[in-house]
Amino acid sequence: MTSGPASHPEPIDHVSRRGFLAVGAGALLASQGAAFRSARAADLAGAGGRAKNVIVLVSDGMSVGTLTLTDQFLLDRFDRRSHWTGWLASGGARRSLVATESANSLVTDSAAAASCWSIGQRVDNGALNVTPAGAGPEPLWARVRRAGRAAGVVTTTRVTHATPAAFIVNHPSRSDESEIGAQMLERGLDLALGGGAMTVSAKALASRPDVRALSSRDELLALRPGAHAGPVFGLFADQHLSFEVDRMHDGAIGRREPTLAEMSRWAIEHLSRRAEGFALLIEGGRVDHAAHNNDASILFEQWAFDEALRVALDFAAGRDDTLIVATTDHGNANPGFSGSGRYGRSAFARTQGLRRSFEWLTDRHRSLPAGERTPESFAALVTEATGLVIENDERAILARWLAGERVDPFAERSRSYCPLGSLLANRHGVAFLTPHHTSDHVELAASGPGSERIPSFSHLTDLHGVMIRAMGLEPALTHAR
Ligand SMILES: [Zn+2]
Repeated sequence: MTSGPASHPEPIDHVSRRGFLAVGAGALLASQGAAFRSARAADLAGAGGRAKNVIVLVSDGMSVGTLTLTDQFLLDRFDRRSHWTGWLASGGARRSLVATESANSLVTDSAAAASCWSIGQRVDNGALNVTPAGAGPEPLWARVRRAGRAAGVVTTTRVTHATPAAFIVNHPSRSDESEIGAQMLERGLDLALGGGAMTVSAKALASRPDVRALSSRDELLALRPGAHAGPVFGLFADQHLSFEVDRMHDGAIGRREPTLAEMSRWAIEHLSRRAEGFALLIEGGRVDHAAHNNDASILFEQWAFDEALRVALDFAAGRDDTLIVATTDHGNANPGFSGSGRYGRSAFARTQGLRRSFEWLTDRHRSLPAGERTPESFAALVTEATGLVIENDERAILARWLAGERVDPFAERSRSYCPLGSLLANRHGVAFLTPHHTSDHVELAASGPGSERIPSFSHLTDLHGVMIRAMGLEPALTHAR
């Protein structure tokens, strides 16, 4: 079977793993170097406001089509636009078009992209703050902590996944998540909420009596923000948290896993007790996964992210000390809607009836006894997940795909869930380009002190300079080579 979330390419290691374990042990030595090496970033460091707090919200793998479609989805559902576009429409947000290429690829991955924010330099795909030359500059949240502020990450993926990892960890390979989890603990990250109970080892957590470990939504909501002085690690699933569409339609998941907005609210209330200020990453990490899967339930995932954005904007409202940035690390699958007229409206309205993700569908099908794993049983699950009846000719296409045949002239679109997404595009009008990341320039919106320095066209690396200047951070440390 060809379905399943696309895996990320194996990263290329440029430095020995052992060399970077030393960094994980805290062996950071002072650098004589400048805080950032990009002349462009230095250009951005002019006069401007200072921020006590910085909140970076990343909808991972959000093509502009994902933002657009979710805006239209919410307009249909609630007769209102998304908080993101409402923010832009209010005139209160700075906007930038952002180029995303990494050191070795026009199409970046999440590790290389988030490293740009963290150290202001491009690295190769797969690397976390390790440059092509093998240097490991101090990640941004480590600098924030050294300045006496609190730093945290909130995500719907494993907390050790590429984007949150890049804010605090140096490692040549994003795939070594057990080592990444260990570094997160060693470096004193104040807060990590998300999935990843299998990657942050119970042994490592148990060795740190100062860390408060949480494992359910009830435990999180029962803990008063600020009540625990040490680090808080809330890991609400073994792997990633569930897709939002599955969480919404399964009460058991909803009781176990908090929403992204709930985690964000708790994190902000908790970290904002720190008098010196705080820095927080909030990631809608599974927007990327739904895009890889060509699953129109990406609209629910982006909606959940948009609710977290509202929490951050509510916190910043009426204050002048908090820089809010909402952006993404790269495009993915470039979804778009092209059904015109009344027919198109009714097609798009069917996305409101989605009840389950493609991942749920495949897991269910795989769990059937071998003899029952047929195209017919798959089609029945598609109906359960989407409310749509699969016709005979469509079932024949599904049967070929399930048998591993190439069903699309563009070979890449026979991989992952693409044929299923393409088939449902006939009903929803939402079509996807590919199962992969794309090189598209992406959206960024920001408000608060420092946002005035963001150029209308930028590269991912530029945001690094904006954030360190806004927070007035000391130059980065680096480890000896
Ligand atoms: Zn991805």
